[in-house]
Amino acid sequence: MVALCQKRVLVLNRLWQPIHICSPRRAIGLLYLDHAQVVDSDGSAIHGTHDFRSWLKESTVRIRAKKTDGLASMGSTSIRVLVPSIIVLSAFDRFPKRDVKFTRENIFRRDDFTCQYCGQQKEPEDLNIDHVIPRNKGGANVWENVVCSCILCNTRKGNKLPGKDSGTFPIRKPKAPLWRPLGANCQFNAATLDQRWSLFVQPVAA
Ligand SMILES: [Zn+2]
Repeated sequence: MVALCQKRVLVLNRLWQPIHICSPRRAIGLLYLDHAQVVDSDGSAIHGTHDFRSWLKESTVRIRAKKTDGLASMGSTSIRVLVPSIIVLSAFDRFPKRDVKFTRENIFRRDDFTCQYCGQQKEPEDLNIDHVIPRNKGGANVWENVVCSCILCNTRKGNKLPGKDSGTFPIRKPKAPLWRPLGANCQFNAATLDQRWSLFVQPVAA
């Protein structure tokens, strides 16, 4: 049987779009509270949906028949429920929008690994974070004041202010990125992708 800690559950919104990945415990909790249903899929077809009661019945049958198909289970010795691979939410608002973490990697992602001064797309190791208003001139370390910059442009700009002073404004006015659902760009390493998710998410080569 698959170790529980390794299991992740794909969460779909009411429009059946992938929006999140959650823990088995969270998934079972949402099912129990009737906030979600199990999507029974083998990766090539959807065989139906289950609420908590019907999934519990289904789990019992599959566990007895030893046809768990790699799904882990949770519960006590007398009652066990299979950890679903995919759930679909019954309402839109179960997962609050989260702020995107302010990290170097996420700043690069927001700017699409593109220098905001010369417009060239680069590898992460050839990029820096530039403070539009330099820190030593009172510029804050916030989304609105940082951009992705290539090392050359970053050096050229140095500690100068944008505009008159250095002749450089970022191509796009920097702002905090919006948290987006996983959506069409949702990609997982093919080696670790749960095959049952393949109707909803795209694998990428390992
Ligand atoms: Zn540049």
